[in-house]
Amino acid sequence: MVAFAQHKIPNEIASEAKIALSHYPELARTPIEFKFKKHIKKSTMQAQPKFLSVFKSKKNRAYKILISEKIKIVDSVYYTKDMPSEIMIGWLGHELGHVIDFEQRSGLNLIGFGISYLTSKKYIRGAERRADSYAVAHGMETYILATKEFILEKAGLSQKYVDRIKNLYLSPEEIMLLVEERDMVTED
Ligand SMILES: [Zn+2]
Repeated sequence: MVAFAQHKIPNEIASEAKIALSHYPELARTPIEFKFKKHIKKSTMQAQPKFLSVFKSKKNRAYKILISEKIKIVDSVYYTKDMPSEIMIGWLGHELGHVIDFEQRSGLNLIGFGISYLTSKKYIRGAERRADSYAVAHGMETYILATKEFILEKAGLSQKYVDRIKNLYLSPEEIMLLVEERDMVTED
C-alpha cells in the first residue's frame, strides 16, 4: 500500500493513480482512498464521499474510489488490476471527475445527490457526463477516449453493459467537441 498523507492507493494501481491525480492539482490535499472491492453493483468503479464526512465542513471532507476486483466479461473473468495502464488511468480520471463535482457541493446537496443517483436514470446520466467533462477539462481526453474504446469495442463486455455506458456517458464524438471548445477558450 502506497500512502501519502492524503491519498491511499493500493500498490497494483499506484503509478496509474498518480498519473490521474497529477491532472487534478486541486485535489493534492484532498483525502482520497482508492480501494478494491469484491463487487460493486452495476459498475466497475465508484467515487463517493466518505459517509461521515458529508456532515463535516467541505475542507475536511474525504472521498473513496471503490474499484471492483473483476470486470464481468461475457465468457471469462477479467481482473481490473490487469487492465492496460492507459485504460486504468482514464477510468480513474473519470472517477476523479466525480470528486471535482462533489467538491462543489454542500453536505446537504451531496445527500440529495446520493438519493437522486439511486432513483433517477436522468440524474445518473447528468452526473456521468459531468465527470467525463471534468476529466476532459483536466486534459485527460486521450486516456478517456482509450477507456471508452476499450469498454465499447475491445473488452467483450455484455451488450447490456455496453448499452448502459453508451446511454449514460459522453460519446467519443462529444468528447472531441469538448476538446475543441476547451482549446478555443485557451487560445483566446
Ligand atoms: Zn462515473
